[in-house]
Amino acid sequence: MKQWNHVDSLMVSAGEEVLRRIGDAGYEAYWVGGCVRDEVMGRPVHDMDIATSARPEMVTQLFERCIPTGLQHGTVTVLIQKQAFEVTTFRKETEYEDHRRPASVEFVDAVLEDLKRRDFTMNAMAMDLEGQLIDPFHGREDIKAGLIRCVGEADERFEEDALRMFRAIRFASVFGFTPVLSTWRALLRNRDKMGFIAIERIRAEFEKILYGPDPLRGLELLRRSGLLEYSRVPLGPVQIQTELLRKLPLLPAEPVQLRLSLLVQGLGIDTQAVLDLLKRWTFSNREAEGTASLTRFDQELMDQFHAVSSMSAQEREESLRRSWILLQLTYGKDTAGLWISRMKVLLGSSKTDGSSSLISLELLEILEAWHSSIPVHQVRELAVKGNEVLEGISRPGGPWLGSLMKKLLYAVAAGDISNNKEALLNEVKRTVNLNET
Ligand code: ATP
Ligand code: MG
Repeated sequence: MKQWNHVDSLMVSAGEEVLRRIGDAGYEAYWVGGCVRDEVMGRPVHDMDIATSARPEMVTQLFERCIPTGLQHGTVTVLIQKQAFEVTTFRKETEYEDHRRPASVEFVDAVLEDLKRRDFTMNAMAMDLEGQLIDPFHGREDIKAGLIRCVGEADERFEEDALRMFRAIRFASVFGFTPVLSTWRALLRNRDKMGFIAIERIRAEFEKILYGPDPLRGLELLRRSGLLEYSRVPLGPVQIQTELLRKLPLLPAEPVQLRLSLLVQGLGIDTQAVLDLLKRWTFSNREAEGTASLTRFDQELMDQFHAVSSMSAQEREESLRRSWILLQLTYGKDTAGLWISRMKVLLGSSKTDGSSSLISLELLEILEAWHSSIPVHQVRELAVKGNEVLEGISRPGGPWLGSLMKKLLYAVAAGDISNNKEALLNEVKRTVNLNET
């Protein structure tokens, strides 16, 4: 039987072993959720979730290696044949508080009940060991028609868990699907409940939109639905620049700064506000800071391009070179490198549109050469140390030393002086004498 065409065969045989072993012990077990949906859609399957009538304690007994991932939700991760499967006991969520996760989870012995509590028809399908599809809500038909439809009453489902509204838009964006009218209307009626949802959960869905194939679709649906305004971290007034946002899918999904920076710029978010906003969205410090640096780098460089536009060609190049070096020292070689790779993609995509006409491919090559030729980035890479400078001019230290070292760094980076002790000390003496006369 060949029911899985879009899953790694080692994963399939390991999963079959899980289903078989649970079955042999007298319980029911099925593949469920995203893996069944993706297989039906012909999309690659990356992980396979399993639902079973066996309780977690029983699952733990049946397999040698288990991790109690979420026992309170009835989930055990089974490790078998170098594969991992989340095995979750059939469940029926009984009570909900605050439109979030269920207050208590009552185990029920039926796959139908389990499927009923899932969010959308396409996600509410199961497959058994023989390859028989269990599709009580006609998910396969909705997939064929490209429709996102809540299981059961949409208003109720969104009240139970408001994140489902965001998920509806995420799936619409990633699959190019459309919510059916009843689901869309319920979403508009319930959007104010987004404020109950932890920002981390929203962010996880938001990132799938951002790194998916058509972020603009998701962003437009988010705008039309008003969902973002009702989340705990409202974006504030945004000025959507469709032309920029349309280019999001051209950029690689990693590192995240590439798309994130284009996103915040495409939403017209003020450069100064980016860091704070991303942190409130619970992006890691590294991601938030990396993105903020990249947007500032871009902004400041663009300002420079404008500033030099009236100069003669020769002046312009030298002025740009110095600005570039200063920016690269300020924001780091990595940021400058990311900016180049981002600009390559953006330039490659559009020779004609005005937004990037300030920069030509030739100029980008020059910038690239500057990027790789800067010999030093940190004061500690200089051939002279702070105390040697002090000795050289026999003076006590002070805050001036730090800025002097930075000046030396810049001079070496720009090729004005070479990075050897004598040349550096001469430069020190020269500037000190200059300051004293
Ligand atoms: P992806 O391919 O991005 O992982 P997915 O559909 O597998 O998408 P998950 O968040 O991994 O999404 O959830 C797995 C399954 O659990 C879903 O297919 C769905 O059946 C169910 N599910 C997940 N989140 C919810 C929710 N908030 N409400 C109801 N059912 C949910
Ligand atoms: Mg999944």
